[in-house]
Order: sequence, then C-alpha cells, then structure tokens
Amino acid sequence: MNQQHQDLIDRDRKVTFHASSHLRDFAHGKAPGRVITGGQGITIRDKDGREFIDGFAGLYCVNIGYGRTEVAEAIYQQALELSYYHTYVGHSNEPQIALSEKIIELAGPGMSKVYYGLGGSDANETQLKIVRYYNNVLGRPQKKKVISRQRGYHGSGLATGSLTGLKAFHDQFDLPLEGILHTEAPYYYHRGAEQQGMSEREFSAHCAARLEEMILAEGPDTVAAFIGEPVLGTGGIVPPPEGYWEAIQAVLNRYDILLIADEVVCGFGRIGADFGSHHYAIKPDLMTVAKGLTSAYQPLSGVIVGDRVWQVLEQGTGEYGPIGHGWTYSGHALGCAAALANLEIIAREKLTENAAETGAYLQRAMADAFGDHPIVGDVRGVGMLAALEFSANPEKREHFDPALKVGARISAAALEENLIARAMPQGDILGFAPPLIATRDQVDEIVARTRRAVDRVTDELVREGALKALTAPVA
Ligand code: PLP
Repeated sequence: MNQQHQDLIDRDRKVTFHASSHLRDFAHGKAPGRVITGGQGITIRDKDGREFIDGFAGLYCVNIGYGRTEVAEAIYQQALELSYYHTYVGHSNEPQIALSEKIIELAGPGMSKVYYGLGGSDANETQLKIVRYYNNVLGRPQKKKVISRQRGYHGSGLATGSLTGLKAFHDQFDLPLEGILHTEAPYYYHRGAEQQGMSEREFSAHCAARLEEMILAEGPDTVAAFIGEPVLGTGGIVPPPEGYWEAIQAVLNRYDILLIADEVVCGFGRIGADFGSHHYAIKPDLMTVAKGLTSAYQPLSGVIVGDRVWQVLEQGTGEYGPIGHGWTYSGHALGCAAALANLEIIAREKLTENAAETGAYLQRAMADAFGDHPIVGDVRGVGMLAALEFSANPEKREHFDPALKVGARISAAALEENLIARAMPQGDILGFAPPLIATRDQVDEIVARTRRAVDRVTDELVREGALKALTAPVA
C-alpha cells in the first residue's frame, strides 16, 4: 500500500466509524481499511490504483455502472438551475414532477402517488407511518402490527431495523420493537427436517400456512401489513420458491392486510423486470424503491402508494388536516435529476433486458462452475442477483462451523483476485449483484475469479482438517 493511501486510512481511523465494522479493531488499526477513488464501468479503483471488478455494484445499487458523464451532467445542470428547494405544502420542482410521472408509468396500473426520501430505511419508515395512518382513518386503531420475515432486510433504523429479520441488527439494540413480528423465510434450501420431502409449491403452501397461523394467533384485526422483498436480498439472496407470492397474497387478502413490496434491490431492472413485483405477479398496495432509482449517483428513495391506500389518505386529511410527515430533502432536485438521467440510460441501453439475458447467462455459468463443487451446497439467483451457499457436506446440507468464517474467507480470497463479491451477513453465503451493464465476457471473468477463490479456500480447509479429504483435487 502506498504512503498516501496509508495516511488517508490512518486519518479515517481517527475520526470516522463504519457500518457493520468492528469499531475497536478499525479505530486501532487492527482491521483493514481502503479508500476508493474512482470507478468506470463495472470496476472501481482504490488509492493505490488497484482495480477491482465490482461484482456487487456497490451495495446492489450502481446499476448503470460507474463514471457516467451523462448523469454527472444532469446533476450539474440542475444544480446551476435550482439545487434545492423544499417540497413541503405543495412546493415542487420540475425533475420531481417528471420523475413521479415516470415511476407511476413504470409501476403500472393501480399505483397513484410517490413520496420521496433519501434511502431505503427512511422510505420504509414512511411506509410504517402510512400503514398506521390508514387504519386510524378507517377507525381500526387496533390494526397496527406488521409482519415481516426472518432474514428480511428493510433497513437499520429502530423501526426498520425491527422489520429486518437478521440477528445482528437486533442484538444490543433491544429490537425488534413491539408490534413487529417475523414469519418463516421462504428459504427452500434451509427448510426444516419436517419439510424435507416437500416440493417447492408445497413448501410455499407451508410458509403461507405459517403466516396464517401467526395472523390467527395475534388476531386478524390487529395485523395491519406484511412487508417482503420479492427476492430476499441481504438475508441470503433467496428467490422465492414456486407459488410463494400467490400463496402469501391469498392469506393477506383473506384478512384485509396491506402488502408492502420492498423493491429497494429488485426495482429498476435488477432481476430482469422493471420491478420484482412484476416478475412474480405480486400486487402490492405500497412499494418501496431506492438504490437502482438513481444507481446511487445521488441518494434518493421513494414510497409508491397504490389507489386503495391513497383514497384513505385523502379521506384522512379531509378529516384531520395536513399529514404530519415530511423530510427536509424529500424530492431533492439533484436526486430527481440524477434519477431521470439514470432511468433514461436504463431504457435506452435496455439494461433491464440485459439483466434478464446476461442474468440468465450468469445463472448458468454459476451452476456450471459450482453445481457439483465439494463445498457448494446451493447455487441460486435470478437475473443479475446470484449467490453461492457453502456447506461442509453439500449432500446433507451441513453448515460449516461459523468460527471457520468460510463465507468471509472466500470473499477475502476473491478480493485477492481483484473481485468484490459480498459475504452476506448471516450464513456462509457469497453474493453477486454486478452492474446491469455487465457483458457475458465480464460474467465469465467474475465466475473464473470466484472459482479460483473458492478453490483456494477449499484447499485451506482440507489442510486445516475442516473438510474430509476430497477424492479429487478441486482445481
Ligand atoms: N430495503 C432493502 C430491501 C434493502 O436491501 C435495503 C438496503 O440494503 C434497505 C431497505 C435499506 O436501505 P438504506 O440502506 O438505503 O437505508
């Protein structure tokens, strides 16, 4: 590492702390740092000038890739014209209006209005307030509980961190808050012993039955909403088993429970459709968007409100006056300008179509490379979202001892290959979400580098005695 890079990291250690980090180790120089200085296409560069293929598009958000002059220009021009004015009490700006029209057009029939925030967490916070407001207006003040899923990810605030169904986001924060519940994850690979013989459809029916049991146990008149990502993301990149959403929606309809589709990862092309909801025929009442909305060129999120909820919100302000909700930066002109330029690129370059086609190629390439690898238990994904789940014994789906940190080691080995692939926070899972501009050749390169990384760690595990001797060398 060059001296300039080292100096920057040392300065950072003194004054900054980082998400999902070991705070003490980082502050005291015992955990690594890195300063990213540039990006172009699907690669990023650090202060040493070292280049990495970004196989996770930042945090599955830089969908159009890095270094897009067109988006930078749009932000610049907007900043010259009007950088910001608030959007309270009817104030608007031109990019916000055009963007809302575009989003409503993409979201399709049944969707009425958009309200903006800056990130997925604050957008889901808005959703929770809308759900409460809705039931208060309807005279059902007891209908307030929200059901999320184990392994769901919906943010890391107090309420949204409660929606998140991952242990690390709850421990030490006294979460989840009361009134937020978690039902079984649609994780076919991890299905329990009693579900072993089930087909995907049967397992989906089982998940729906578990949800219904929870609703009945709590009392249907106390359950307001269900929130889910069309494809579980941070919880392990898990596409739903066949028939899952159909079965879940039937239960929600039975008990008049709103459905919030958290499209923060899936929205705007990631899985080869404008929204994950379109891909899986989900009919949400509310949708949350962020990440791919601007490809992270500016922070921007949105809540898309469907007709059914909108009617009640209107009725509510008719009765109670202006709604008591708002963010200073809602509808920020620079964010909206960036989003418009980003959506224009996605449409012009047919990146959603590319996510479907090159995404299918990615899925096949991963399956070919790892389908019978001795430490890979599951190869899964959809579109430009993919995951490898590692297993000490793939046939029996046995987990590795967490102390071995297999997922993190493989992610580190990939980094040695100048590839960023994300060790997902729970379980030994390596996640991929390349920018939607990725080509087949780039996919081949991602898979080849991953294979070298996985093989290297497999050999280490054999040497450490953590794996039974393999009958054939892995490489
Ligand atoms: N919802 C989903 C599905 C996400 O994946 C994320 C972040 O990864 C969020 C919400 C929270 O978004 P943010 O980190 O922008 O607050």
